[in-house]
Amino acid sequence: MKITYPHMGNAHIAINAMLENLKLEVIPPPPISKKTFELGVKHCPEFACMPLKINLGNFIEALDLGADTILMAGGWGPCRFGYYAQVERDILEDLGFDFEMVILEAPDSRVSELFQQLQALGQNVSIWEAFKALKFAWYKLQVVEKLERSFAYIHPRAADKNRVEDIYDKGLLELERAQDKSDIDEAGSKNLDRLNQMVLTGKKPLKIGLVGEIYTVLEPMANYSIARCLGRLNVEVDNSIYISDWLNDHLLGSLVKKSHQKHLVKCARPYLNYSVGGHGLETVGSTVDYARKKYDGVIQVGPLTCMPEIVAQSVLSSVSKEEDIPCMTLYFDEHAGTAGIQTRLEAFTDMLKRKKTLTALTH
Ligand code: SF4
Repeated sequence: MKITYPHMGNAHIAINAMLENLKLEVIPPPPISKKTFELGVKHCPEFACMPLKINLGNFIEALDLGADTILMAGGWGPCRFGYYAQVERDILEDLGFDFEMVILEAPDSRVSELFQQLQALGQNVSIWEAFKALKFAWYKLQVVEKLERSFAYIHPRAADKNRVEDIYDKGLLELERAQDKSDIDEAGSKNLDRLNQMVLTGKKPLKIGLVGEIYTVLEPMANYSIARCLGRLNVEVDNSIYISDWLNDHLLGSLVKKSHQKHLVKCARPYLNYSVGGHGLETVGSTVDYARKKYDGVIQVGPLTCMPEIVAQSVLSSVSKEEDIPCMTLYFDEHAGTAGIQTRLEAFTDMLKRKKTLTALTH
């Protein structure tokens, strides 16, 4: 079996580690490129969500490299994600690809179900080995996310932003290659130290929370590297969700850490009291949370036509007014242009700076 999976941010680093420890031959999809977009757009219905199009492009590129099995997450709820795997399977079969699709469903309540699914996926692995594979991947993910958070803190404050980006990109590559815990620790601490030794400007950056549909928040190719663009404008960006939060809440039954989602659901009340599918409810909750933590602003991102984010956007106008936090929404599709996005980010951050100065003068 030669297995592949879809890209989403830095998730591939942990997914690769887990699959290799399940004794599988892994064919990672090439990094998302213009070609990936083009393949997805060419073969998906026009109205399909952008993440589905990018996923399909990932699969075509990996199948062309020799993969014969696709690992995909299942889903449910009032949006289109639950159909992704089936739609992608049908499209790929119509294109003549010969492959198996394995759908990893979120376990109802017992984590043991997840280990059983992983054991069935692996090549002659015991439940204990499946557990160890997941534990190793989780450990790697923790260090990756430490590096992501440190990058988000240092990048807007550093004088030499190119050097910070270089350390971060190389650090991720080293973590990807790390074969055991000591390799991970070494790569993690070496690159965290390098980031911490950067010369800082001493200026206090604006702080913006990034909320919205999970794929668009986490995948730079889907959001035109919004966090990096903002970092270059000296703005600190906090991601409202990390992969470990999603895994903990949806696959691990909040066993590993406190539920992030439950906190956001509480924050969303009374603005939105029920799920609207996708991450709509969390978008509203995160925005309220950022307002109460005194962030300077919030940017909501999502794929064009994403229903849960459209519903959340309609609620954000009252959140923005009541909680006194400026919000901007950006929808992305394959036609979005970097110049237009950059202009909107500059205009939004200029407005936030003026607001901050005025507030400081009047208090
Ligand atoms: S959350 Fe939005 S982008 Fe994701 S499947 Fe649902 S509608 Fe599509």
